[in-house]
Formats: sequence, C-alpha cells, structure tokens
Amino acid sequence: MALGVQNREVSRYENIWSDVLLTVKEVLKNPQTYDAYFGQSQLLRIEEKKAVISSRNEIIAEVVEEHYGSLILNILKRKAKLDISEIHFETVALPPKPIIEVVKPVEKKQEEIHHETEVVNIHQFYDEYRFENFVVGDSNQMAYHAALSVAEAPGMTSFNPLTIYGKTGLGKTHLMQAIGHFAKDENTADKVYYITAFDFLQRFMDFLHTKRDIPAFHKEFEDVDILLIDDIQFLAKKDKTQECFYTIFSKLINMNKQIILTSDRLPEEIPHMQERLISKFKSGLTVDIKPPKLKTRMSILKKKANSDNVQLSNEVLKFMASQVTTNVRALEGLFTKVLAHSIFANKEMDIEAVKELLTDFNRERKERITIELIQNTVAEFFEISANQLRAHTRKRAVAYPRNIAIYLSRTLTKQALRTIGLQFGGRDYSTVIYACKKIEEEIAQKQETSKIVDQLKAIIAG
Ligand code: ADP
Ligand code: MG
Repeated sequence: MALGVQNREVSRYENIWSDVLLTVKEVLKNPQTYDAYFGQSQLLRIEEKKAVISSRNEIIAEVVEEHYGSLILNILKRKAKLDISEIHFETVALPPKPIIEVVKPVEKKQEEIHHETEVVNIHQFYDEYRFENFVVGDSNQMAYHAALSVAEAPGMTSFNPLTIYGKTGLGKTHLMQAIGHFAKDENTADKVYYITAFDFLQRFMDFLHTKRDIPAFHKEFEDVDILLIDDIQFLAKKDKTQECFYTIFSKLINMNKQIILTSDRLPEEIPHMQERLISKFKSGLTVDIKPPKLKTRMSILKKKANSDNVQLSNEVLKFMASQVTTNVRALEGLFTKVLAHSIFANKEMDIEAVKELLTDFNRERKERITIELIQNTVAEFFEISANQLRAHTRKRAVAYPRNIAIYLSRTLTKQALRTIGLQFGGRDYSTVIYACKKIEEEIAQKQETSKIVDQLKAIIAG
C-alpha cells in the first residue's frame, strides 16, 4: 500500500513538473539551451516549503539555480499553486528512467513468442554506454574487442570470465554495460544480470541476516546467461560473500554462461581475495584499460561535441584534451562546463574563453581535495588508521604512508606548509619539506613508489 501512495505522489510530481517545463520551454525559446539545462530534469519531491529538483550534474544545477531559480519558483507558486518558498537541486548520477521490467508475453502462442532479453537492474544502465559511443584507441582496444566478442557470443569464447581492470574513470563500466546493451539489442542472451559488487555484498548480507536463506540467493542467478559484476575490489576481505560468489561463479562457468568482471586493479592485487577465486578469474581473459593518449582524448571530446551539436575548433579540442590526462570522466566534466558556458553565452568557445574557464575548473578541483580526504584515502590504501598518520610513531609501516600523505597534501591542495604540518599531528613545517623531498626522490628512483603515488592520485581525483 505504501508503494501505491508513493507512486501516486510520483505521478503528481511528474504532472506538476511537465507543466513547469512547458512554460520554461516557452520562455527559453532556444531548444538547445532548454535541453542542456532541463532535459531529463525531474521534480523529485516536496519537503515542506522546498521543491527538490534533480539535475544531471553540479555545474548544470548551479547555472539553473542562479539563472532560472526564481522563474521556476514563480511557476510552481502561481501555476501549480504550491506553497513553496525555495527550490533545491540534487545531483542524480543516473538519468532517472522508467524501470523496464521485461515481462514475457505469456498469452501468446508458443511459436509467436519472441524472447526479449531480460536485463536485471537495467535502471542502473546508462543508455549512452554502448559500443558505438566508445572511442577505441591504443589504450583500450584489447578490452574493447574482447568485450565485443563476448557480447556477440556469450559463453562461447575462452574469454570466460572476462575481467577488465584499470583506474577509475577509464571506461570499465561503459564497456561492461555495452555488453549488456548489445546482448539485449541483438538478442544474444535471454537474461543479463548487472550488479555492482557493492550491491552484491549488501544483498547477500541482507539475505544472510534477515532471510537466512542462502540457497534462495543463489537461485537468483540460476538462469542468468550473462553476469556483469562491476568493481569487484569491493569484495576485498569479505570472506563469506566471496564464498557465496565462488559458488555462483563456478556454477555459471560450468554451464558455459558468460561472466564479466571489472576491477580497479589486477585481481591478484586485491587485498585478501581468496586464492581459489583469483585462480578462477585467471582461467579466463584479463585485460586492462590504460589512460587514453592525447589523440584518443581528442576523439572522445569530438564525439561528445558532435552528439551535443556543438562546434569546437581543433585548437580548443586539443587544448582541453591536453589539460585532463588521466581520467575520461574528468575530461567529460570539463567538456560539460565548456558546453554550459558556450550555450549560455550563446557564442562559440574560443581558446581564450576556454583558458579562463579552465582556471576555475582546476581551482574547483583543487578545493574539493582536502588534507582530510588525502589522509583517509592514504590510510585506507595502506590499511592503517588515519590517526596513525597524525601520530608520532616512526615505524616504517606508518612513516612511509605518512610521508606520502604529506607529499600529496602539498601537491594536490593549496594549503600552506604550516597548515599541513598542523594537520599531521602538529609537525613543524621543515618536517613537511623533508617528507616531500624524500617522496620526490623515491618517485624518481623507485618504480614502486611512483606507482603507488599515481594510484593514490587517481583515487583522490575520483
Ligand atoms: P570506470 O568504470 O572505469 O570508472 P566509466 O565507464 O564510468 O569509468 O567511464 C567514465 C566516463 O568516461 C563515462 O561517461 C564514459 O562514457 C566515458 N568514457 C570512458 N572511456 C571512454 C571512451 N573510450 N570513449 C567514450 N567515452 C568514454
Ligand atoms: Mg565504473
């Protein structure tokens, strides 16, 4: 019953919001502007006197709030007769789409039945994460071709499981979901099951604690043809869940069902991952995705510009692509920012305008990164507590991570030496300088340290 009430509310909000959008559309005139700012937006809920509206990302939310906030508020008050005094934006990562529950057509006669592929958790799929939207370059072509092969012939190649690993923001989820889209569009599987390892863990725990019915949990995966598990590094140290996963995994592989995994590092480098699981992963194909080269980054930007119908000169594309080097997600963030401003200023973005925007972009990125964030990330990475980083022990197991954290605080934030020292247990600024020097030397001399620092930077950059 509660669900019924909730659904009624949702459709009431939908009605109100489509009224608002009609008016906004009239006011804005320019359909491009309208799409950029209001396409896919929704009225999520009303809390007392506040209307909460979804937005694709923070930049868009900011622009909409600043420039159209009072317009929206006015329409809500006057047209929808709502007693509202403020609006608030919430970033919704996934464009909210109706959940497509594919119900098999039971009434049809046997010979007429066309099995549409069922995709479990399709509401977590991005519609754009398709093969045709993926730019192939040196850094990802192995992964791309392997993914395409298993999508075409799931369970029939030796790429089983297919494990795609690489740092964050390089297209692992994109490729994985492309396999799901392909299987659905081309009907190469009857049932595709997508789940993040994090959700898998949660669901399993749920079954364990409330239902105490592990077999029922296993049963969910029984008739799956393609199993996609995203970010398996979240299974680190989770012994019971790993055991359960092992059972499901073995069963499916034995039945020649296709499994695809993604991970932010090589599976054997995931801490506390059971040996037998790792050897199962290794029996298939493991491919990595590396950061794309400049040429590929430019192609990615060009593709986005084309699909968003904007003109950006080669000079501008090259400049943008040269600014963000290690993370495609961040590159897209920059693109969105440039797009928003170009639409808003209603002019083509020249190199000067982009340079100016970029100063803001880098500043915002720097401000988001705090010493605390660095301490927590480094502590987690080395499996120590953040308190130990601030304490005064000199054991190498702590001193080394501490020096790295200090070095990262110095290079990734704008904090003064003194502030950094204070936040690391009230150390002197000369200690900070010493730690930075030491790590700089190690980066130059030891591959191990340079690799760790790179990994940490990527995690912190999100
Ligand atoms: P990961 O799962 O590795 O963290 P995602 O798959 O979420 O990364 O990718 C981050 C963003 O970058 C997504 O919007 C994705 O579409 C985009 N992206 C990554 N690689 C490519 C590529 N080669 N071509 C086009 N877009 C890409
Ligand atoms: Mg991902």
